[in-house]
Amino acid sequence: MGEVAAFPPEAGDAELAAAHAAAAAVCDPEVPVLTIEDLGVLRAVTRGEAGIEVTITPTYSGCPAMDLIAMQVDLALEKAGISRRTVRLSLSPAWTTDWMSEAGKEKLRAYGIAPPVGKARGRAALFGVEAVACPHCGSAETERVSEFGSTACKAHWRCLSCREPFDYFKCI
Ligand SMILES: [Zn+2]
Repeated sequence: MGEVAAFPPEAGDAELAAAHAAAAAVCDPEVPVLTIEDLGVLRAVTRGEAGIEVTITPTYSGCPAMDLIAMQVDLALEKAGISRRTVRLSLSPAWTTDWMSEAGKEKLRAYGIAPPVGKARGRAALFGVEAVACPHCGSAETERVSEFGSTACKAHWRCLSCREPFDYFKCI
């Protein structure tokens, strides 16, 4: 390294970096403020026999958004000029909300969706969530309206303080 950059740059590394940047920028179709990197859905970007290999782990099983995400990743790679590419689904271990980044949770809250509370295998998941703070006003005086919100991934809640309804991104 030093003042003079190697030229040409090692083709493999540059392409891999471009592929990672392109894949990481793909947004979740249902929560457009979250990228698949925020969600922890993007597991790996590597170079293999099939060229660039991107591994993603579906969020909720049966979430219809997943096929769309795989297509969008493929499209993003194509736009980044990655001709030899494969998008793979990894089903094990199963995705958990624990993989969501702190930045992702902040973005969710700013978007008006309460982020998952606690760890997937902790108390919240085992015994049901006791307190979900309102993403609008921060109040803990909230109640669950329905187990299912705008999508199966979310539960519908209501704030008793500011009266605003909101979605809670369920902890799994
Ligand atoms: Zn509120």
